This record gives sequence, structure tokens and C-alpha cells, in this order.
Amino acid sequence: MPTLKTSPYDVIIIGAGVNGCCSAYTLHRAGLRVALIDQNGIASGGSGAAGAFISPKISKAGELKEIMSEAHTEALDFYTTNFPNFTLVKPLLHIANSPKEGEKVESFIRDTHLKHSNIPHKIQTLLSDEAQNAASIYFDTGAIVDAQGVCRAMVDGIDFYCFKAEHITHENGLWQVGNLHAKHLVLSIGAYPKLLPVDYVGLRGIWGHRIDIETSTHIPCILHQHVSISPTNKEGIVAIGATHDVHYSPFSGEPYDLVQGREILLEKASKTLMLNNIIVLADYTGLRSGSNDYLPMLGNLVNADATLAKYPHIRHGQAVNPTDYLYYPNVTMINGSGGYGFVLAPYLAKRLKEFIADGFEMDPILSPSRFFPRWAKRQS
Ligand SMILES: Cc1cc2nc3c(=O)[nH]c(=O)nc-3n(C[C@H](O)[C@H](O)[C@H](O)COP(=O)(O)OP(=O)(O)OC[C@H]3O[C@@H](n4cnc5c(N)ncnc54)[C@H](O)[C@@H]3O)c2cc1C
Repeated sequence: MPTLKTSPYDVIIIGAGVNGCCSAYTLHRAGLRVALIDQNGIASGGSGAAGAFISPKISKAGELKEIMSEAHTEALDFYTTNFPNFTLVKPLLHIANSPKEGEKVESFIRDTHLKHSNIPHKIQTLLSDEAQNAASIYFDTGAIVDAQGVCRAMVDGIDFYCFKAEHITHENGLWQVGNLHAKHLVLSIGAYPKLLPVDYVGLRGIWGHRIDIETSTHIPCILHQHVSISPTNKEGIVAIGATHDVHYSPFSGEPYDLVQGREILLEKASKTLMLNNIIVLADYTGLRSGSNDYLPMLGNLVNADATLAKYPHIRHGQAVNPTDYLYYPNVTMINGSGGYGFVLAPYLAKRLKEFIADGFEMDPILSPSRFFPRWAKRQS
């Protein structure tokens, strides 16, 4: 445990993944006193396993596409401006991995404002027949960041405490976590147990495995198809990832089969291009925390018991305006970024800072309370 801090912080953040680190960085730069807590260290959860590609999400028109597009632009600017040493900028070739995805790629090409061009001949010749014949888009700019390096750099100079937060209490307008106190509490705990009784928050953990390899094949750009294959900012190292395994959970106690995971990754990579003389250098595994509706979460948390006590008929479908729900005071959850945590973190952290430091409202579309009414109906 850290030594007792008598004067309270402005904000305690639990969880030092990319969301916690980026929030700490942004709030600290805005002049707030921030304490960051993690049970295992910086980027020890899903974030430490990430690729971490700053790639646009290829999706059809809608809210998700709008948010992802804005987040992608902000993220490219954020990492290249503030953390250039941890960011490798390269062109990005996205190749559809199925006919259905091909339709999304075609529709994305029609709408996107992102600069894209024809695939250069030297890249085309590297690709398998399957990859050459699939729908694709070649962006002039993509990026990959060093996940662990950038998280550590973001929290340089910020008070970090390594312990597991278990009992969270609120007294006299302050949250207490261990010996730490603050007016605001931010929960950026990824796919781990939620710490407050907020079962309505619709999240699921999706296990992922990626590897770093050495290969004699030169990879000139970032490639996404069945998996991503990319140069990294570590000389000679190519990143391959990641798997999406909805069945495996590290909380089950079952061991994860690393050898089989590597085989799956290399087999998927081989559908895009031939990699020669491969040596696997490192494995990275972790849980992504994805929301049930694919939108990320940024917002205050409904106190379910208090709200159901005040509006018992919500259970039977009574419509109550979310502004009338009862919320835990000054608690914000950031979560549900799925496979796009590094893309979304600067976007979410900026809006968290605008809420805490500048008094702006958060976007209700992102609020975790969106899951509350449907959950409440199941409580009858
Ligand atoms: C294999 C893989 C590849 C990925 N590739 C990409 C990619 O290319 N691009 C991209 O944008 N995203 C990628 N992602 C997704 C991205 O990593 C996640 O969206 C992101 O890590 C979510 O970050 P987070 O901060 O919300 O959660 P996490 O990184 O999981 O952090 C949560 C932290 O909270 C801590 N914690 C939880 N409970 C407690 C407690 N009670 N007390 C103290 N500490 C606690 C945990 O120890 C953990 O460190 C990938 C993920 C995986 C697994």
C-alpha cells in the first residue's frame, strides 16, 4: 500500500490500461491532481496485449461509424504529436476477409474522407491470390503504437499506486479507495469484475492472442485481413494479431493453449501473404472488453437499487427519462472499446476531461445507463 495521502486528489482512476493512462494524462495536463491505481502495473490487462493499430473501423453508416471516424482522426493526431517515439506511421492496406466484409469495404470506399489510393505494385505482388481478388482499400496513412511503451509514457509524472481496489466507499463528498481520497472516481477496469453493483452494464470479454515474429519477408505496410501483419517500431520485428476467442476466459482457471494460438495466427496470416523463415519472439494475450452494442462507454453509473426503489414500475416497462435515474455521485465508467481501445482512448479521455474540468455534458449515446431499462425489466 502507498503511504497515506492526507490531502485528497481531484480524481482517482482505477485501471491503468490505455483508457486509464490516457485519462490520467489528459486530466493531469488540464491541471487536475490525479491518482492512478492498478492491481498489476501499467498496461497489465488487455492493453498490454494490443497490437496496437490505429486503424479506421470499416463499418456501414451510422452512429458507430461517426464516432469511430472522429476517434480515429483524433487518435492519429494524439499519438503522432505527443508520442512520436512510440508511434510508427505507415500506409495501411485493409483487405476484406469475406464477401460480406467486401460489401462493407465497398460502401466505406464510397463515403470515406480518408485519403486512399491504388495499391502499389510492389505490395500487390506480395499478396496471395485470395487477397488480390478481395475488395480492399489502401490508406495513405495508418499507424501502430507500442502499447506498453505509450501507456508508460502517458503516466510519467503521475502518482501511480499498485494495489487491487476492493472496497470503494463514498463519504462527505469524497470517494475513498485504500488510503486515497478524491471527489471524482473513474473506473477504467476493462473486462475485470465491476467493483460496484452495476450488473446492467452490458460488457463481455473477448480473449485475444498476438505474436511478435522475425521473418525474412519485408513487410512494407500495415496489412489487415484475417489478422493484422505489420512492421513495428522495433527494428526487424513484425507484429501478427490478433485472435478473437469468445469461448476462452482466463477467469475459468483453464490454461490457455499458446501453441495452438500461434498456429491459428500463422495460418490466418498465410492467407494474406507468404512469410518466410519465421521465428516467434513473443506472445501477448489479454481480454478486450466489448460492449453489447459495440459502442464504447463513457458516462456516469446508475445506482440500480436506488433507481428501482424510486421507480419500481421500470421493471414493468415504465419509461423514465435517464436524467431522472439516480446515479452514483461523480463516478464515470470508461469501457467497452472492444478491439479499438487505442483508437478510442484519446477521444474518450478528451470528453472525460471536458466533463470533469470544463463542465460540459457527456454524450448520452455513450452512457452506460443505456443498458439499464432493459436489464431492469428482467428484474421483475
Ligand atoms: C490481443 C489484443 C489485440 C488488440 N489490438 C488492438 C489494436 O490493434 N488496436 C486497438 O485500438 N485496440 C486493440 N485491442 C483492444 C484494446 O487493447 C482494448 O480495447 C483496451 O486494452 C481496453 O483498455 P482498458 O484500459 O479499457 O482495459 P485494460 O487494458 O484491460 O485495463 C484494465 C486495467 O484495470 C485493472 N484493474 C481491474 N480491476 C482492478 C481493481 N479492482 N483494482 C486495480 N486494478 C484493476 C487491470 O489490472 C487492468 O490493467 C487489442 C486487445 C487485445 C487483447
